[in-house]
Order: sequence, then structure tokens, then C-alpha cells
Amino acid sequence: MTLRIHDTATRSVREFVPNVPGQVGLYLCGATVQAPPHIGHIRSGVSFDVVVRWLKVTGFGVTFCRNVTDIDDKILRVADAEGSQWWAVAERNQRAFSRGYDALGCLPPDVEPRATGHVPEMVELMRRLIDAGHAYAAGGNVFFDVSSFGDYGALSGQRPEHMRAADDVEGESFKRDPRDFALWKGKKPDEPAWDTPWGEGRPGWHLECSAMATKYLGATFDIHGGGLDLIFPHHENELAQSAAAGDGFARYWMHNGLVRLSGEKMSKSLGNSLLVDAMVTKVRPAELRYYLVQAHYRSDIEYSEEALAEAVAAYRRIEGFVTRAAEAAGRQSTSGAAAEGALPGASAGLPSASSLPAAFAAALDDDFGVPQALAVVHEAVRDGNTALAVGDVAGAAKQLESVLAMLAVLGLDPLAAPFATGASSNLTAVVDALVSVALEQRQAARARKDYAAADAIRDQLAAAGIVVEDTPAGPRWELAR
Ligand SMILES: [Zn+2]
Repeated sequence: MTLRIHDTATRSVREFVPNVPGQVGLYLCGATVQAPPHIGHIRSGVSFDVVVRWLKVTGFGVTFCRNVTDIDDKILRVADAEGSQWWAVAERNQRAFSRGYDALGCLPPDVEPRATGHVPEMVELMRRLIDAGHAYAAGGNVFFDVSSFGDYGALSGQRPEHMRAADDVEGESFKRDPRDFALWKGKKPDEPAWDTPWGEGRPGWHLECSAMATKYLGATFDIHGGGLDLIFPHHENELAQSAAAGDGFARYWMHNGLVRLSGEKMSKSLGNSLLVDAMVTKVRPAELRYYLVQAHYRSDIEYSEEALAEAVAAYRRIEGFVTRAAEAAGRQSTSGAAAEGALPGASAGLPSASSLPAAFAAALDDDFGVPQALAVVHEAVRDGNTALAVGDVAGAAKQLESVLAMLAVLGLDPLAAPFATGASSNLTAVVDALVSVALEQRQAARARKDYAAADAIRDQLAAAGIVVEDTPAGPRWELAR
């Protein structure tokens, strides 16, 4: 089975063949850091985190580049409105994005370039475009000449004659054609500016990504990703600039669906309650990640409290099995499994492909079919629970190994970082010792037929948030959820 990926450029699912055998260069349009992330932003990070994990598990070496757009009209507006510096706004929100990615267990990119650190690369790209007759300087701006590039519109499937004017209105009077877009925006009073041969100014968003992607991944690289809302104009323009300059650029274009509220794309005013920082106080980060990955990455998610609650319940079913089976099998952590399953040189914590059920692997090979892959996880959980119910510890342990390997691929292992920490497992041991004392007293009360005392102990534990369950192997406890 080989990996197949839906490519926006061809509107088809294509077999994935990397440019260099065994190596994948992946560029993901990251945050424009004018505000902290809502779950729509972080969904893109989580979707491509699964992509990166699956590529690594199946043996590819991955170079993952996710940029930060740290200069932009919106950042300048926010800074102006709050009377602070643009770079302070960018820095603060970049930290919020990092916090969100980390909380939801996204592996860090190999490089996270910031636009303002790459002006020399942008000047170089503009130079090549001007020399080749695809761009022109006018009034301190530099524009891309859309009519000079015959394939303009191919990525988004639009015919140039039906296209709307580019939405960068600054310097509009200098454009030869309203569809021409700004590679570089001439300096305006009180705005930050960088020097170029065509005058001072600041970069256009599209130019930034072309310059950063090719700097870190080469002129031709494998996968370019981003949200569906970036196909036009952002990715159309990136492709036009880079292809017109003679670069091969991205060989596959992947786009994740959006998170919508009542059918609308989440906007700032609607989305404040869905900021990642707020959501992780409402549900646990692992549960939020489950909610965001369970839909196919290309589908939109219609946000609702009910759907979130269903996802939480589904994740807790998996987690409940993992906890009970790990207890039954006497396991304290996944460290043993990771060491056994890992390939030499594979990333720590990721399983080997051979340790995964074939149906799970087939689902992910089919354009990252996470819904089908999760169905395999839930089936293994059901089988494992059945084994536990009949006291088949070996059978349960086998399903546990399989479930943990699959969860690691999806970044959902409740026993692994960041969802389990050393501190909490130490605390669990302490609570376990204390609860054991109470349960021994309860057993003693029962032995002397003092059921009122036994029930009182159970009720006191319940009041402390500890649920006791009597099993054939003796009482066991868990924290009430
Ligand atoms: Zn971009």
C-alpha cells in the first residue's frame, strides 16, 4: 500500500512520490500573529501534525517548515488600536500559538521562519521576477504582472478573465491591471519599513511564503499545505511568483477544511469563546485534539457543544480502556512499547508501521483517512474491553499495545507527553496509596458485616471525586470525570 494524497492543483487523489526518494519537504502556512489562535487556526496545525507523524512512521525523513507572518496590515491595526509596537503584538501572539500547538501535542516544526527575518530572500525573488518580465516597480511598490503568467488561476481553477481585483488596495493607481498583486508595499508614514533597490517598504504576504518555502525546502519541494481559505489568492499568488521565477515549487497542494460556526467561517467576533486558551479550560487538551482530528482533514467542522461533548465521550471510552488495561497488565507507562516498536532513527514515541493493524495503515494511506483509522481504534478498544470483562489479561494487553501504537500516530496517546506528565503519575501513585488504605478499611468493615461503615467510606471517596468499582480482581478506583 502506498500513500495517496488529494492534490488541490489536479483536484484528484494522487499517489505520493517524493522528489527525493525517502525525503519529504513540507511547507505549512502558519499563523499571521495579530491575535491568539482559535480552534480553526489550530485545526490546521493538528491536521498537518498527523500528516507529519504518518510520513515519519512510514519511513520518510521529513523537513517540516511552518512560517510565522509577523508583519501584516492586521498586526499594524492591532498595534495602533492598543498603542503598542507591532513587534510586541506579533511576539505575544506567536507565544499564544506556540502554547496552543504544544498543548495539543503538535510536534514542533524543524524550522519556524518569521517573515521579517527573510527580506534579503524576498528582494532576491523580486529581482528575478523583474528581470524575467513578470514584475514591475511602480511608486515605491513592486507588483506581480498577472497577465505575464499564462497559468495564473490554475491552482484555484479560475479563468483570469473572471477574476476579481487583488484586494491589496495600496498603490492601486500604480497597477497596470487591477488583478496585479503587491509583492512589496511602499513605505507609508509611521509604518515599519525595510530597504530594497526599489525603495523602502514592507513585504506582501504572498511573497513571504514563496521566499521562506524555497529557502528551507529548495526550489522544488513536495507538499504545500494550508487552510482551504488560502487557495485564493494566497496560494495562487505564491505559485505564480515562484513558477514565473523558474522554481518548481510545491508538487502537491493539501488544504484542510475550516471550523465553522453556524455555517460561517469563524471570525474574530464570533470566535472569541473558541480561543484555544479558553477551550482547554472547558475540555482537556487531548479531548480537544480528538475533536479536531476525528473529522477528515478536508471536511469542514461545524462547531457545536453537542459534537464536542460526543468527541469527549468517545475519547474517554478509549482512555478508560487504556487505563484499565494498563492497570491489568501492570504497565505504568508506554516507554517499553516505544522502545520495542521504534525503528532505528525513528522519532521517539512513534511506533513502527509494522506494529499497526493493516486496516489502520490503509486508512491513513488513503489521503489520511483519520475517521476510518479511528474506527479501527474503537474496534480494538471494544475487543480489549471484552477481553478484560472475561479476565483475559493477555488478550487485553495485546489490544492495548495496538491501541497505544495507533494513538501515537494520531498524537492522542493519553499515557504519553504532553497529555501525561511525570508529575501527575507521581501524584497518581500517592493517591493510589491513600485510596488503598481507605479501601482496606472498607473491606474490613464488610468482613465484619458493618455495611453502613463500608458505604460511608465509599461515599466519602465519592465526595472526594474518587469512584470505586468492585471487580472480580478486587476494588479498583478512578477519578470521577
Ligand atoms: Zn503562506
